[in-house]
Amino acid sequence: MTAFRSNSYKVVICGAGPAGLMAAYQLGKLTQNAGQILLVDKKEPWKEPIFCAEAVSNHRLNKLWPVDESWVRGTISGIYFTSPKGYKAEFYSKNCGLLLDRSKFHRAIACACVDAGVECHFDALVKNIARNGNGWNLDVKVGDEVVSLSASVVIDATGPGCRLTRGIPCLEGIESGNTDLEPAIFAVAEGIEHKRDHIDLFYGSEFPGGYGWIFPRDGKEVNIGFVLSKEAKPDMPLREKLKQFIASRYPNAGIKTICGGMIACGQSKKPLAKCGLFKAGDAASCVNPMSRSGIVESLISGKIAAEAAHEWLAATDDAARSRIEASVLDRWMATLGKTHLQIAKAKLGFVKVKDEQFDKAAKRLSELPREKQTLFKIFFAVLRSCPSLIWRMRSFLH
Ligand SMILES: Cc1cc2nc3c(=O)[nH]c(=O)nc-3n(C[C@H](O)[C@H](O)[C@H](O)COP(=O)(O)OP(=O)(O)OC[C@H]3O[C@@H](n4cnc5c(N)ncnc54)[C@H](O)[C@@H]3O)c2cc1C
Repeated sequence: MTAFRSNSYKVVICGAGPAGLMAAYQLGKLTQNAGQILLVDKKEPWKEPIFCAEAVSNHRLNKLWPVDESWVRGTISGIYFTSPKGYKAEFYSKNCGLLLDRSKFHRAIACACVDAGVECHFDALVKNIARNGNGWNLDVKVGDEVVSLSASVVIDATGPGCRLTRGIPCLEGIESGNTDLEPAIFAVAEGIEHKRDHIDLFYGSEFPGGYGWIFPRDGKEVNIGFVLSKEAKPDMPLREKLKQFIASRYPNAGIKTICGGMIACGQSKKPLAKCGLFKAGDAASCVNPMSRSGIVESLISGKIAAEAAHEWLAATDDAARSRIEASVLDRWMATLGKTHLQIAKAKLGFVKVKDEQFDKAAKRLSELPREKQTLFKIFFAVLRSCPSLIWRMRSFLH
């Protein structure tokens, strides 16, 4: 007696982060509750800790999933861009962002999946997938038992890296989920003075190729951490570096937990679907290369994967199925991928900005009234302080 209702599914979605949850929900809706859609994750998707600062754009999320206060920690109305010497440029836009309680958000989408007829198992590790004729075989471990399942379509939403799809000949060349994989680490801490509706971002050589951050949580706690470029060679382990970052600026801070993870923050032009396997979210390297945000991006990419998979199942010949697979990259490019390609180019220039140049730009901006500190002005103040960047970023500017 296995944990599953069947041993054969139309679609198995592997991974129940934002990408997998959204893909499963969409497929549930598109197949009109007809079943045969399975969502599996090795753990409950609302189990803490979730490796994330949990910030999203308010209006972009609202377009994808109606915002419900029960899973919102707070509202963001501004960002401080802080230079190495501590000059602060402020971007202000009332209610521009949200701080999510991702555990609760995941649970809300998972409930919607169940309502849409999706079979969900949040104790099921996909150990292995293999091509079988026109479909896929999956070995799924639940408890001590390994169950063999089959599926016409697999959606890989297992997060960064390519654990599931590595070494499968027919998937050669598919996006790996490894593009520009960068290390990130944060602490949940108390005793750090901050504005509850502002994010603080720290730039300069202390965070080579990346940035430090403070994201408010509940008014008392903050999420404080940093992301570095994959080329960065920190002179100490990331955990020590984080503790030093906190202690040097906030000697009264009390660290409650430390979490780390990798972020796939590059955009490639590699295919996102092959042989009935569709990639979504971090597994498709769909994170914004500069801000490193990936929640909304994963929801969008999960939706695209689900719509394409649904069309694929209805297609009547191999040529049509191949066209649909190829179109997944086009759909992603048309939505966000093209912008991400440009941002990835700009990032190459941005990492070369020197501490003095950040200081000069932030000082100049901090002298302007708040209403004049637009994101556009902030971006161009950094460019003006480092003229060689304008040449490097020319592709980004037109
Ligand atoms: C430190 C840090 C801070 C971040 N802060 C932000 C932020 O503030 N805002 C933002 O927008 N983005 C942020 N991100 C990025 C964001 O967290 C990710 O882009 C997003 O979670 C990707 O969603 P996903 O569904 O693709 O993958 P994930 O959320 O990683 O979900 C993948 C799921 O797959 C499951 N899984 C993996 N392998 C298997 C397997 N073999 N079998 C079964 N299940 C499996 C995992 O358990 C997991 O639940 C941050 C990332 C990090 C590391």
